Amino acid sequence: MKGTILHGPRDVRFEEVPEPKILKPTDVIIRLSATCICGSDLWPFRGLNEVTEPMAMGHEYCGIVEETGSAVKTVRPGQFVVGSFCISDNTCPHCRFGFQSSCEQREFMTGAQAPLARVPLADGTLVATLDMPSDDLIPSLLATSDVLGTGWYAADAARVQQESTVVVVGDGAVGLMGVLAAKQMRAGRIIAMSRHKTRQDLALEYGATDIVSERGDEGIVRVKTLTNGVGADSVLECVGTQESMRQALQCARPGAMIGYVGVPHGVQFDGQQLFFSQRGLLGGPAPVRRFLPHLMDLVLERKINPGKVFDLTLPLADVAEGYRAMDERRAIKTLLRV
Ligand SMILES: [Zn+2]
Repeated sequence: MKGTILHGPRDVRFEEVPEPKILKPTDVIIRLSATCICGSDLWPFRGLNEVTEPMAMGHEYCGIVEETGSAVKTVRPGQFVVGSFCISDNTCPHCRFGFQSSCEQREFMTGAQAPLARVPLADGTLVATLDMPSDDLIPSLLATSDVLGTGWYAADAARVQQESTVVVVGDGAVGLMGVLAAKQMRAGRIIAMSRHKTRQDLALEYGATDIVSERGDEGIVRVKTLTNGVGADSVLECVGTQESMRQALQCARPGAMIGYVGVPHGVQFDGQQLFFSQRGLLGGPAPVRRFLPHLMDLVLERKINPGKVFDLTLPLADVAEGYRAMDERRAIKTLLRV
């Protein structure tokens, strides 16, 4: 079969790869219904993470179980499943506390930008639907696998409450999903920071009440003005740069929580500043498995439409163009039809 391999900066190829096989009794092989490109795939694509050997790309996935290992109990061939980008056993102490992304057996999914993929620890990672979902729900179900799960975690970690004031830093796909999540958690005010018209429009559709297009100090002043000089109760940091983290900290009020899900690149904290700021920080790779059953239900009941974040759909064979479109910000997020 053909799959997606990153050979080096801006060198992504759809090329012949071996078909995945069951390697351990807890594995399954799935046939993907759709897959997509993650904002985090752009870090190695842009050469900001070193690529030392060819990488099998793709960690967001949903599809039909093709084959199960002998120890797999909860899913069977023919079922439709969604899984987290973090592989977990869902039984160790960290998993039981709801931090499956720190599972003692954690692995990160790879190789999902392909027609078939191997999912390790299937019982602890995958969630099956009761019936075969309707085709138009596939993009939204795919979104639960990472981008929505991550935006949801940002809101959960930032402790968004009913009627609270929330700031979302970052208008990429995860930031937009953070807006959706804050709306579902019944935030009273959702301030989305975005400079791009199409992203502002989608943020408003997902529930943003205010748009702040200024950045840096100007953006911080605007948020302070909108919150009567106090700052927000919750801030979702969905970028991962020093500038976005500084913005998140400064937009939050003392006692606020910051949920940070943008993978940090070059972010540093000053201990004394953090001490006197009295802001809480919780982030990291999202424990999507904790939220998956609920998020899949919301999609299946058509209460949310996270799939709208995919504004470009391409055949899997054109995956390289999908990377370029996201890199050049021509697309928010690319869905790949298998
Ligand atoms: Zn675990």
